[in-house]
Amino acid sequence: MKSFGVGNGFGEALLAILQSRGRVFGPIRGADGICRLGPLTRWTSLCADPPYLPPKKYLFPPRERLWSLMADEYRRNGRPEEAMALVGLAPCDLRAIDYLDRVFADDPHYQERRRRTLLVGIACVPREECACRVGDYPPGDLFLADDRLWCGSMQGEDLVAQLRPVLGDEQDRPLPPREFVGRPQENGRLLAAFARSAGAPLWARIAQGCLSCGACSAVCPTCTCYDIVDEVLPGKAPERFRTWDNCFFSSFALVAGGHNFHRERAERLRFRFEHKFFGFGPLRGETSCVGCGRCARACPVGISLEEIRQTLLRESSR
Ligand code: SF4
Ligand code: SF4
Repeated sequence: MKSFGVGNGFGEALLAILQSRGRVFGPIRGADGICRLGPLTRWTSLCADPPYLPPKKYLFPPRERLWSLMADEYRRNGRPEEAMALVGLAPCDLRAIDYLDRVFADDPHYQERRRRTLLVGIACVPREECACRVGDYPPGDLFLADDRLWCGSMQGEDLVAQLRPVLGDEQDRPLPPREFVGRPQENGRLLAAFARSAGAPLWARIAQGCLSCGACSAVCPTCTCYDIVDEVLPGKAPERFRTWDNCFFSSFALVAGGHNFHRERAERLRFRFEHKFFGFGPLRGETSCVGCGRCARACPVGISLEEIRQTLLRESSR
């Protein structure tokens, strides 16, 4: 893999190139000390911590118009997507975007936005709540580690060509081994333990404190449930919107006729666990949890899927 030394002036040069093609977002620390994704105007403002909210919102917005009804026919929202760059993404967030790419592989709205988005990753410093699932780096278009820049795509190579005057030596070498805080996946054992846990007191015990606030799903970089809402307002063309939904809401599995497939919080907790660790639909069998730890950090009552995972594994080995 092509890599280049980086020195003084590299960051501002990269930022200037990215800004010339569109909007640039990166993690920035606010006055309250919290790191959030926002418009990046100076390279030195880039914060090393992963942002509180993941980059998902830029590619899969919380609410977006899909169609308008014009002259008796539905028209796709024709607004062209602006080019953008997401900079300073930790490996878990890059991996989450890779997952979103597959979930929305056939979604024209997502794909159009994604085609116009460049990803610049950065090596992270693992924190206590991290539980990465995979030890290698997903490179994105460019990736920064150990004062070197790696190219992960053709777009990355185009950027490197423009940056060549501020880059150092070129070497063909793999990304450096990363400090990996993940634990063995043990998916087979976990699946067996999960299957045996249906109706087990574990779920009710943990869910007892759950407020059904949905914060854990909202901050998750790979939660993609959505609802489709048609708006028909007087004097306006009817419109169809896609809005984030949340499997922790009591209304999530409510269907016509009043039946609720997940009436109990314990059922909703187990459902979310299943989808995070064993996937669903065409991605069944794949873990969508990238181990970023945001759900545990955001939960007001301290519920952690990673802790549940470990409990299930522990109980299965007794
Ligand atoms: S389930 Fe939690 S740890 Fe896993 S990706 Fe989502 S927010 Fe991160
Ligand atoms: S953040 Fe915690 S309390 Fe809120 S829905 Fe998720 S598990 Fe329940």
